[in-house]
Amino acid sequence: MKTNYHTHTFLCKHADGDAKDYLLEAIKKNMSIVGFSDHAPYPDNRYGLRMDFNELEGYINNIENLKKQYKDKITIKCGLEIEYDPSQKQYYEQLLNKYNLDYLVLGQHIYIDENNKTINSYALKNTNQYLQYGKTVIEGMKTGYFKFLAHPDVIFINDLPWDDNCDKFCKLIIDECKKNDFILEFNANGLRRGKQSFCDGYRYAYPHKKFWDEVSKENIKVIINSDCHSPSQIWDKYMDEAYEIAKYWELNVINKIF
Ligand SMILES: [Zn+2]
Ligand SMILES: [Zn+2]
Repeated sequence: MKTNYHTHTFLCKHADGDAKDYLLEAIKKNMSIVGFSDHAPYPDNRYGLRMDFNELEGYINNIENLKKQYKDKITIKCGLEIEYDPSQKQYYEQLLNKYNLDYLVLGQHIYIDENNKTINSYALKNTNQYLQYGKTVIEGMKTGYFKFLAHPDVIFINDLPWDDNCDKFCKLIIDECKKNDFILEFNANGLRRGKQSFCDGYRYAYPHKKFWDEVSKENIKVIINSDCHSPSQIWDKYMDEAYEIAKYWELNVINKIF
């Protein structure tokens, strides 16, 4: 069964195609479930690379209409990918209860540090910040708002040598998954980015083998997602490759999250 719960649309300003374009591609490729999880806006329109808040209702209505229109062909879920910020709890509840979204994906592209500074997870300066990222992520995991953690190992895009903090970070995330039976995402978009030279070797920025070796040992549930930003990517060679690698790395892969 082919599924993907991490799908973007043109609304985020760095992807191509409308929800329908992704859906037609998914049907063509015989997929069973497509979950939309475009980058969520905040009510105050903070941060970039996401839809504007006034586009949220249109995004949801569009997907709800497609659900009805294609109900005999494919299962569609309507969600959003968003960071965890403790000050936004009411908003997450609104998204799930008032806007009736099927799910939220925790994608911590940005976090707020202890000095109330906004930190970009893709531009960290030291591995202490890995632990701060991890702390925010596990706080989010504990809330119950989120269905899975997107690209949990995205911080390894930062070119810093592997040290004790990296081991601690892995343990932090994995222990929390064990406690709450939380699902981690194995992100095919990391494979799409290709391998690069890092100070700890020639590798993918993410997925990082060292992280997934620990995940494998604990038999944590793993969902493989495309994180597609273009309709043809909804199931491409990188999705096949992700399944192959996950099998080779002995991950406990599931293909349904509901
Ligand atoms: Zn994106
Ligand atoms: Zn994404």
